[in-house]
Amino acid sequence: MRHLYIHVPFCVRRCSYCDFSIAVRKRVPAQEYVETVLTELTRVANPAAVPRGGPDGNLETLYFGGGTPSLLPAVEIARLLTSLFDAFRSTSSLDAVEVTLEANPEDVTPVNAAAWRAAGINRVSLGAQSFDDRVLHWMHRSHDSARIGAAVHALKSAGIDNISLDLIFGLPEELGRDWNRDLDRAVSLSPFHLSLYGLTVEPRTPLDRWISRGATHAPDDERYAEEYLLAHRRLTADGYRFYEVSNASRNGFISRHNSAYWSGRPYLGLGPAAHSFDGRTRRWNLSAWEAYRRAIGAGQSPVESEEVLTDEQRELERIYLALRTAEGLPLTAPDRLLPPLTAWVAAGWVQVVGDRIRCTGEGWLRLDELVAKLFATKGLSPS
Ligand code: SF4
Repeated sequence: MRHLYIHVPFCVRRCSYCDFSIAVRKRVPAQEYVETVLTELTRVANPAAVPRGGPDGNLETLYFGGGTPSLLPAVEIARLLTSLFDAFRSTSSLDAVEVTLEANPEDVTPVNAAAWRAAGINRVSLGAQSFDDRVLHWMHRSHDSARIGAAVHALKSAGIDNISLDLIFGLPEELGRDWNRDLDRAVSLSPFHLSLYGLTVEPRTPLDRWISRGATHAPDDERYAEEYLLAHRRLTADGYRFYEVSNASRNGFISRHNSAYWSGRPYLGLGPAAHSFDGRTRRWNLSAWEAYRRAIGAGQSPVESEEVLTDEQRELERIYLALRTAEGLPLTAPDRLLPPLTAWVAAGWVQVVGDRIRCTGEGWLRLDELVAKLFATKGLSPS
């Protein structure tokens, strides 16, 4: 097992668009959380039963996602990391492993940044979302735009240069958000990596309720497409490469952890709502922190359910994951004769480069449609 995900479910408030299973807490039960995850590690993912990372026994990536992992005190993050490294008997030096922490800008103080670095964190994914204070307020984010620059500065001063910024695009028109200006502000901080997410309206979120009562409008498809393509042009001109539908990086700074997901590699997830995959079976933990905590406390498995992928599901997933990435999908000889390919190339949605088909920015906007069509043309049907 070379890729490890730790889910930290706590947030100080719920963002207006978020439907994740989170535990909103003013005071995070950090010590109890760490004990519980470590108990899961020893009981459920018994280190003795967890295969070494591979022939050389090395863990490659470790990712703290959430929720808001940066709400954990640095000392608890360090305790967790030490135990995880011991459990996986990694022979790597800490820095050979990509260790990512998702952080909200307000948690990134010079003291925290230095403590995270000392604990082994070498990559931070910062939830910036926008540089417009009105928009951040509308999103229910707890930081203002000035905090983002201060956070990047604190991280770099602490020796964490591998920084990713998350930004959200496709916001309702009436907010008057200037996407171009936000991209300028982001690029001016010279992050090595950017993740761009289009706003979606999830049921039962504050955003969903605002739309239902007419207080705001649902995001517009045209605006979504324009802003997505603008980001492609803008970031490409600034020397970033879109290596995946939502992710752009400087040379050598792709997210190795997320790339493992997109190439179908096995991974182990710990914590509430964490997913694990062994190449054929996907299983996931109870999503609510309280239910997860109770299950572990009672000596029970925290796994809520699992699915064994059929051959067709695996093929669909292979096509979908490959087309998400700039690597694209390897083409077999019969694939080359599939009727839609010529039309897609002519429309500028895909390119055939050597023995691979790759989506363009326009193609990535239609990713679901292209995958479904390709799958159906091959005579398969998603189940
Ligand atoms: S910080 Fe992230 S996980 Fe927490 S509420 Fe906001 S979007 Fe959801």
